[in-house]
Amino acid sequence: MIQVYLLSDASTESLAGQIVEFLAPFFEGTAELRRIEAVIPYREYWTWKDLFAVGRDCKGDAQVGNEERCYLFLVGGSNENNWFASFDSDDPSVAFVQCSGWEQFDLPDPTYAVAYHVLAMVTAMRYFSSKSPSERYHFPSIGCMFDFTIDKSEVLFKLKSADICQNCVQEIAITAGDKAGAMAYLMATKASMEAIKQELFPADWGEIFGVLAYDLCINEELDFRLCFGQVKLLLPISNGYEKVFYLMLLKYREGLSYQQLMEDAKLQEFIEIYFKFFASTGSLDELRKRLLDERSTGKLRSRLMTLKSRMAKKMTQVLKNYPEIRDQLSIRNRKKVFSISVKPTALQVGHADINKYLGLS
Ligand SMILES: [Zn+2]
Repeated sequence: MIQVYLLSDASTESLAGQIVEFLAPFFEGTAELRRIEAVIPYREYWTWKDLFAVGRDCKGDAQVGNEERCYLFLVGGSNENNWFASFDSDDPSVAFVQCSGWEQFDLPDPTYAVAYHVLAMVTAMRYFSSKSPSERYHFPSIGCMFDFTIDKSEVLFKLKSADICQNCVQEIAITAGDKAGAMAYLMATKASMEAIKQELFPADWGEIFGVLAYDLCINEELDFRLCFGQVKLLLPISNGYEKVFYLMLLKYREGLSYQQLMEDAKLQEFIEIYFKFFASTGSLDELRKRLLDERSTGKLRSRLMTLKSRMAKKMTQVLKNYPEIRDQLSIRNRKKVFSISVKPTALQVGHADINKYLGLS
């Protein structure tokens, strides 16, 4: 399995960490990505010779047996030929990737464009190291990872196509000693490119479809679903505290502060709903005692805060294509008041007790 080491200077240190975190899951079992902790001093300008020396110094005598390793320096300063990235033709196990200057491309987060070039470099170092740049790159662009890109529109075209052309794939298949390994590596690369594309050019479905009329449906099993006509999307609100908290916010539409929620009457309400619908063991008194303890030690407060951010995270994942609806269904916390802005008319509750609790019947 190839080991990919990312080196950074003072300006790219956190970027290197983010790239490892983003790419590593795609390459599990296929390539290992690591960030080298030592940070190279920042320079405004680099010659290619100096850039490659960074990787070579790090590599040192570390080459163990036949293990395949490569070293990529993520550099913040400019480089002598003003390229996005290159490997050293004398030693194709070292390369650099340029990380600054992406502002001019109007990308929401250039991290992913840098991640793309890391992939392009590793692929080139592995499979095209014997070719000169003019043999390796397509010019003019055809929408392949190995397009030689100069201007903004070409770079965006390449990032959007998220592809390696059939000719390049064929060449890799011929060059590769380990064909199964090469195929697994290319599949991981392709999946990463698609993910990069999604991050850089997210389709705004809300803009395409318009904001759809929806219902928030709660059925007899107490499942919470987002319903568009016949389409029913299960919302990631867990049984227990999450649903109780959510139901109370659906009832108290003006919102609830933490203080209000912790008042005896509201806390009692919280306990009763929890006990009625979600407690499987113990008595109401035991539950009350436990929650009162948790209230006095502040444990309940931190639990609710954790719960709120966990729910927001899950909602973001499930509703990533519906940002406006996500904003309405997620719990907001403004000026210490929790609230949900879903319209009461959108509530379709098939559970008689909950219907009554929410004052809908
Ligand atoms: Zn190609």
